[in-house]
Amino acid sequence: NSSLHELDPDVAAAVDAELHRQQSTLEMIASENFAPVAVMEAQGSVLTNKYAEGYPGRRYYGGCEHVDVVEQIAIDRIKALFGAEHANVQPHSGAQANAAAMFALLKPGDTIMGLNLAHGGHLTHGMKINFSGKLYNVVPYHVDESGVVDMEEVARLAKENQPKLIVAGWSAYPRQLDFARFREIADEVGAYLMVDMAHFAGLVAAGLHPNPVPHAHVVTTTTHKTLGGPRGGVILSTQELAKKINSAVFPGQQGGPLEHVIAAKAVSFKVAATPEFKERQQRTLDGARILAERLVQPDVTEHGVSVLSGGTDVHLVLVDLRNSELDGQQAEDRLHEVGITVNRNAIPNDPRPPMVTSGLRIGTPALATRGFRNEDFTEVADIIAEALKPSYDVKALSARVSALADKHPLYPGLK
Ligand code: PLP
Repeated sequence: NSSLHELDPDVAAAVDAELHRQQSTLEMIASENFAPVAVMEAQGSVLTNKYAEGYPGRRYYGGCEHVDVVEQIAIDRIKALFGAEHANVQPHSGAQANAAAMFALLKPGDTIMGLNLAHGGHLTHGMKINFSGKLYNVVPYHVDESGVVDMEEVARLAKENQPKLIVAGWSAYPRQLDFARFREIADEVGAYLMVDMAHFAGLVAAGLHPNPVPHAHVVTTTTHKTLGGPRGGVILSTQELAKKINSAVFPGQQGGPLEHVIAAKAVSFKVAATPEFKERQQRTLDGARILAERLVQPDVTEHGVSVLSGGTDVHLVLVDLRNSELDGQQAEDRLHEVGITVNRNAIPNDPRPPMVTSGLRIGTPALATRGFRNEDFTEVADIIAEALKPSYDVKALSARVSALADKHPLYPGLK
């Protein structure tokens, strides 16, 4: 019954150092967030000990009466949150949710369409060496010159290739998708429409982004990005597909569900239904808009910095460095140096190699969770703009970052 510090000081020291990193720097990786303490408490609970293959009320193990309660709460809450007919809360991650959804709807060799990786899609939407690219015949679609998904191309490619599944969703895209149009195209060719809302699920839950559920046959999501819960995945679907989805997750893809994570998911779904969560998502959106506006000030753009698609409707901004001396790797390193964590990102028609890239993906969910408001995001945007100029003062910018971190303490009760 020793504590972590007593039993394993090496791991404890690394965990403590990570807490300190999260508290003292500004986290702007668009896919990250800070889970509430109650979510982490549920995730660190005794539910980690329980095997529960199957589903609530139909398990292959005894002693499941309490985890049944927890899993049913999670299912009921997420169905209500998004207005879905069916929910499976067992996928261990977003990638596994997508794998199971595809396993439910497709046979190996079937044709799928997804947004090209370099144009903002996810690995699981058909990247060559991902399972999706290996198992299925992938026809990628793209963004147009203005950086917006080219729906005419989607319609044309669908007609030409007769896919079984069209995936709509993204990991690096600053605009909203037209789900109704996607469904129309899918219906025209008899394809399933699957929306992967991993990135924008929190915005949907808050009513600040169109909900894909009424349009799609299947909607997948992660629970740890804008949604702000534990790391994990969820599949929502019509009632008609419920059985196929459930058996694709278990026994199709997974064994025992992570009931401690499912408990943490349930807690985060409760949080996501509150007015405070909605207010936080609004600050997330406002922060991204402020970033997009301030990163195209003339004294920044003169150094070749611009913003893809000219702005944002979501929680992230894609900085375009194609015309800058600075590449994605250098820009990421500079921001790291002053205490801001982002990731470099390939952008459409990127002239630089994938390990270097000409883009930065900058997101606001984690800072909004810390309590950042418009004036704080304005200061963050100005720090980033300064750091991207040819000469920049690391010491001065680091001090400004520390002041913001001190103003909005993270996990004040944890040490
Ligand atoms: N789908 C989208 C759109 C994503 O952006 C991601 C992760 O970044 C995933 C799925 C995969 O989620 P996970 O990392 O939990 O497997």
